[in-house]
Amino acid sequence: MTEHAVVIAGGGPTGLMLAGELALAGIDVVIVERRASQDLDGSRAGGLHARTIEVLDQRGIAERFLSAGQAHPSLGYGGNFLDISDFPTRHNYVLALWQSQFEPILAGWVDELGVPILRACEVVGFAQDGTGVEVELSGGPSLRGRYLVGCDGGRSLIRKAAGIDFVGLDPSTSWMIAEVEMDEEPELGFRHDRFGTHALGRREAGEPIRLVLTERQLEPSGEPSMSELREALVAVYGTDYGLRRANWISRFTDMTRQAVSYRRGCVLLAGDAAHVHPPQGGQGLNTGVQDAVNLGWKLAQVVNETSPESLLDTYHAERHPVGARVLNNTMAQVALSRPDDRHQALRNTMAELLGMDEPRRRIAGMLSGLDIHYDLGEGHPLLGRRMPDLDLHTADGPTRVFTLLHDARPVLLNLGEPGGFDISPWANRVRLVDARHDGTCELPVLGEIVTPPAVVIRPDGHVAWAGDLTDRELPQALATWFGAATPA
Ligand SMILES: Cc1cc2nc3c(=O)[nH]c(=O)nc-3n(C[C@H](O)[C@H](O)[C@H](O)COP(=O)(O)OP(=O)(O)OC[C@H]3O[C@@H](n4cnc5c(N)ncnc54)[C@H](O)[C@@H]3O)c2cc1C
Repeated sequence: MTEHAVVIAGGGPTGLMLAGELALAGIDVVIVERRASQDLDGSRAGGLHARTIEVLDQRGIAERFLSAGQAHPSLGYGGNFLDISDFPTRHNYVLALWQSQFEPILAGWVDELGVPILRACEVVGFAQDGTGVEVELSGGPSLRGRYLVGCDGGRSLIRKAAGIDFVGLDPSTSWMIAEVEMDEEPELGFRHDRFGTHALGRREAGEPIRLVLTERQLEPSGEPSMSELREALVAVYGTDYGLRRANWISRFTDMTRQAVSYRRGCVLLAGDAAHVHPPQGGQGLNTGVQDAVNLGWKLAQVVNETSPESLLDTYHAERHPVGARVLNNTMAQVALSRPDDRHQALRNTMAELLGMDEPRRRIAGMLSGLDIHYDLGEGHPLLGRRMPDLDLHTADGPTRVFTLLHDARPVLLNLGEPGGFDISPWANRVRLVDARHDGTCELPVLGEIVTPPAVVIRPDGHVAWAGDLTDRELPQALATWFGAATPA
């Protein structure tokens, strides 16, 4: 039986990102993926939000995605467009990029990092003992891992076999989604009727048409047929516009569920395996990638025995509330899309509110992921929030915060006078960088804040401590997050 430190079930966006994070930390990781290749039809995610682009930037790989997509200044919420071009981030936009393009680019990075992917192979069961997990594979010998991470999507076998409850709402509505070619030019844009909202559109001239149709009754998930699609078009538009061919047809619902626990022993969940919700607001892939970035360095430190296993509890503590908030805002968006007059009145009210700056900033801060705040207690406003990508001057020349995070190692960034703290007990784990920042520090929702004299930045880009190098809490913060001091 082959042994690895970590076995990841599922090589979708979440599994790939987690594998990259672990590989950067030098962890022996393998992905088991049911699909024979990274190919995907176009029926899934359509874009990256600002915080996801930032985490890719923190690893030095954002450009690969940016060059393949198109930036748009506004993100969608319940039928409203929220402009984020005034947000203080280098990535103040949504990047239109299909999941079918995103996955191969991410897989290319994971491949460069040397992570093996067992393709056309399925996890069919597992057994945990006190020291790890034996993972049973379809048609082959088992694998053994100290940890198994279920990144195996909404129907996660890992979640079910671990006995982790998936609580929430059953579906109430289903939508048909397709990419089609038509002989006639259809009516592009949104149409509202007593069944809901329908939309036809294309990103570029000459491209096939993408459509989303609200179904008249809830249909079970599964691939609808061409004749069902034709009927649905005629029911809404009175014509099928000479529907010639469908490149793919799929269906999604507003089922909204979350795993009650993201960890059971040596088994963890991330991405859709931990939370499913309707695609309104385009947050599923984004949330999964960010789960992976939160978990990766923690799992690496536990595997390396730098940190105790209890560090893994902070993964659930930090990411479960983020997932719950995503579920909440997608439920609200589904409610906003209801077709009757009372919901129209609610939509009008929301549109008026979101036309104001403060509500727009709040909601857009949430959808973009830029406002995420892990509860690390009282303190400086940066504590638990993402560290902004400040321009820095160092003895080695100009740099920026995100560049310091490329190798996914923690950084103690000193923006005050150099000296004054002995990093040597953590020097094998934490890099001390003396730098100067001329200018202000601004957060997307809070606005301008006082730049602290020093910050501890975790590998996921969140601030674990902010203060003065002489503060007595600094050694404790380093020990809490990156393990006990090593004696000289
Ligand atoms: C219509 C639609 C539109 C969407 N739009 C957006 C959007 O605009 N923005 C956004 O962020 N998200 C969007 N999403 C959501 C997004 O597609 C998912 O959240 C995302 O794919 C989740 O990634 P994941 O890696 O967690 O899971 P998945 O992408 O589901 O990947 C799971 C992987 O695990 C593999 N697998 C499953 N079981 C096993 C097993 N037993 N053994 C081995 N491998 C296994 C699967 O083959 C798959 O590759 C949309 C979804 C839909 C349906």
